[in-house]
Amino acid sequence: MSINFRTNKSVSGRRRLLEKELTIDLPNIGSSAIDDTIARTRNCENMVGWTQIPLGVAGPLTITSMNDERLTMNYYLPLATTEGALVASVNRGCKAITQSGGTTVDSERVGATRAPVFDVKNVTGKKKLEEYVRRNMKALQKCAQETSGHCSLRGITLHNVGPYEYLRLSFDTQDAMGMNMATIAATSIYRYIEAQTGFRCISVSGNVCADKKPSAINTILGRGFRVWADVVIPKKVLMATLKTTAQNLYEVWMSKCMTGSVVAGSMGHNAQTANIVAALFIATGQDPAHVTGASCGTTIARVEDNEDLYLSILLSDLMVGTVGGGTGLATQKEALSILGISGGNNGKNSKLFAEIVGAVVLAGELSLLSSLAEGSLAKAHVALSRGKLQSTKF
Ligand code: NAP
Repeated sequence: MSINFRTNKSVSGRRRLLEKELTIDLPNIGSSAIDDTIARTRNCENMVGWTQIPLGVAGPLTITSMNDERLTMNYYLPLATTEGALVASVNRGCKAITQSGGTTVDSERVGATRAPVFDVKNVTGKKKLEEYVRRNMKALQKCAQETSGHCSLRGITLHNVGPYEYLRLSFDTQDAMGMNMATIAATSIYRYIEAQTGFRCISVSGNVCADKKPSAINTILGRGFRVWADVVIPKKVLMATLKTTAQNLYEVWMSKCMTGSVVAGSMGHNAQTANIVAALFIATGQDPAHVTGASCGTTIARVEDNEDLYLSILLSDLMVGTVGGGTGLATQKEALSILGISGGNNGKNSKLFAEIVGAVVLAGELSLLSSLAEGSLAKAHVALSRGKLQSTKF
């Protein structure tokens, strides 16, 4: 027998149907103090309850943004995770960075991308459609603008293989991550092009977007935000807080993040960027599938002449927002308020959020590389994620 969840319109009613069908009880999935109106009407179909994830806080982390009048601020970071040792690790990285005067961050808004694919038949069709697009940018920008008060078409890159023409459209979506907005605007644009040229759009998404897949095009052209963060950790902070030296950490970085990643054919030349991004994304209502893009980050380590450590990260595919999607849910909204950036602010909140993500990723990279250099990774996980705080054999 199969359940038709649509016959019951309430969350608890659907849950009862499921409990009855499977002869199980789901008291915890059913227990939440949060009003489910927004979640069940905007975020989740067939909703039967809540999955609750522990939320920890790391910090403070001192961040100096090269934007926003070069403001220096201390942040506490909300991290939702079930990986014991993750929050402690980020916390240690934050401590070392803050003891070193903080991290400097910069960002560039690249925009949310959608790439409709058209059937142009052959090279003649390719030429015709590409010329049309280049000559009619203003009309296409108007199509996008008509779909939203917060969405504008920034640019288009053209990609052709045989009969398939991909228009990689890039949108400024202000404080929203923007994938619904981009998809709506792209639909309006492709329909206009179809009407004007006669070329048929096969799909509003032709994967050159590239949404929720690790991809070279996003790493090279950027997607969402491109974010840089760096820090110099003095020798004495390395020894006192991170229990290592710049040279030892550098050797781990070179053998792991660079050489090991090349041997593995990995698109991420980093220690654990996805780990930190996932915890921040879940806490703050981002789309967790966009961790794929953030996993392709690059970490660079260098030993300074005085044996201090220079460490930097670059994330080229960071899709974040402070309005829209899951950011409107009660606990996610509160997590954003810990960062002081809940809601819309003419695009400034999403940009600052992207920079905070970059800074926390740097803290995670610093801490894990130090732990590996010190040889304490297994010990920390046994102590913190298995609850065995007494000494171990490691
Ligand atoms: P959204 O919630 O669909 O749209 C954002 C809304 O916020 C718009 O209605 C916009 O208004 C409004 N808004 C108010 N103030 C704003 C401000 N300062 N900046 C920007 N917008 C503001 O959110 P979205 O970011 O476009 O889409 C996120 C959702 O898309 C997530 O749930 C994600 O999982 C999902 N997603 C969808 C696709 C897809 O293909 N559709 C792909 C991946 C992910 P106006 O537009 O009315 O002006």
